[in-house]
Amino acid sequence: MGVRQSDGDPDGAQDLEAFRRRARSWLAEHAPSREGLGPGAGAEGAQGASYDVSVFHDLSFDDEKALIERVAGWHRQKIDAGFGALDWPREDGGVGLGPEFVEAFAAEETRFAVPPAHELVSVTVHLIAPTIGLVGTPEQRDRLLRTFLRAERLCCQLFSEPGAGSDLAALGTRAVRDGDGWVVNGQKVWSSGAQFAAWGMVLVRTDPDVPKHAGITAFLLPLDTPGVTVRPLRQMSGGTSFNEVFLDDVRIPDSLRLGAVGAGWKVALTTLGFEREATGGHSGVGGGWRQLAPLACALGRFDDPLVRQKLADVYISERLAEVASLREAAGRASGRPGGPEGSLRKLHWVRSLALASVAAEAVLGARLVADTGEWGTFAWTAHILGAPGYRIAGGSDEIQRTIIAERLLGLPSEERVDRNRPWREIPR
Ligand SMILES: Cc1cc2nc3c(=O)[nH]c(=O)nc-3n(C[C@H](O)[C@H](O)[C@H](O)COP(=O)(O)OP(=O)(O)OC[C@H]3O[C@@H](n4cnc5c(N)ncnc54)[C@H](O)[C@@H]3O)c2cc1C
Repeated sequence: MGVRQSDGDPDGAQDLEAFRRRARSWLAEHAPSREGLGPGAGAEGAQGASYDVSVFHDLSFDDEKALIERVAGWHRQKIDAGFGALDWPREDGGVGLGPEFVEAFAAEETRFAVPPAHELVSVTVHLIAPTIGLVGTPEQRDRLLRTFLRAERLCCQLFSEPGAGSDLAALGTRAVRDGDGWVVNGQKVWSSGAQFAAWGMVLVRTDPDVPKHAGITAFLLPLDTPGVTVRPLRQMSGGTSFNEVFLDDVRIPDSLRLGAVGAGWKVALTTLGFEREATGGHSGVGGGWRQLAPLACALGRFDDPLVRQKLADVYISERLAEVASLREAAGRASGRPGGPEGSLRKLHWVRSLALASVAAEAVLGARLVADTGEWGTFAWTAHILGAPGYRIAGGSDEIQRTIIAERLLGLPSEERVDRNRPWREIPR
């Protein structure tokens, strides 16, 4: 059984337009409309209200925990009402509809002031849950699939290491077999949300004597296991979205192995495939046209031709992303699998974030430099300082371009000199 594949609307009861109307009326009952909050503004964009265009949160531990609970709570509310997990099979707790219903609901949701996205909830629901759906054992599916799909427990991604980011397959965290389990030693880094997660999906090296891609195994790891230390990292935008995670003699039972021993690279590619599918869609982070246009009006900057040009760049980029996303949704609805096009979408999304930074600078000028308390001004530093992070997260711009070059344009592939050497022999 595949995960996240439509059951094809078995009752024939779900007409897209009727669904849209139902979604709109449910949303109207459960969330305030953005329209009521000011011209073109979101909840955060209404003059006098708090204003958040941050790409990464800069909150205290307790405030971020409360935010995550709010985001996960809204997610569960949608599932319980039949508007979440729309494209998941019914037997896994989904609705069994096609991606066009997901797009339709997301489009309706943008008209309402709903809780923002949170990376840890997105990773759990959109990356880890479907990976378990595809490669998990029946026991793992029973124990964790619905829990993660409903964001009742949260799971972070423990992939990157200080010496293995773009070249993830070079990772060196070691796992050694010990009876009915494994003993793990090593360090992970940039683990988003690990300080709030109950679980981690971890990639480890189980065989150093085969080429790097062949000796990796994936596990699900409860983060309260003795030997796991999570240390938040402070980033330039202020918050601590990600962490270092140290693993010292951590024991993982073999029953938490995800996929076969040595098949961890394939499992990782499954998760990364979902990541590429998810990134740049309705990510709900940072600011854009919706906040910039009313801000430029409020500050009397909308008629400046240079400002208008920058705003137009943002508007065009966002509309192009919408068109591309509709084209992809149509492709998926007609059975075309997602693929390297996800890299194009991610690059485009990151570019839109950068264009919004440029436009914010043009609109705000010196107002960006100091926090004067003026509505909607200094807050943009959180967008400008955060946006570059997504040039790196989930595969850097350069790596996305390599994927596009090799897999979409058919250009010759990059030289990979260590491909067939045992991992142990690769200089590092
Ligand atoms: C906001 C954020 C959240 C993250 N969340 C997580 C998470 O939850 N879990 C997790 O495991 N990791 C996470 N990461 C880590 C992320 O996946 C890595 O940072 C990323 O893969 C790049 O790896 P690196 O940082 O080691 O940089 P490197 O791989 O060292 O790259 C450094 C520079 O060299 C360039 N480069 C490297 N190789 C090539 C090449 N072959 N060709 C051309 N250029 C190249 C890169 O593009 C980059 O500009 C996160 C990162 C960020 C920024």
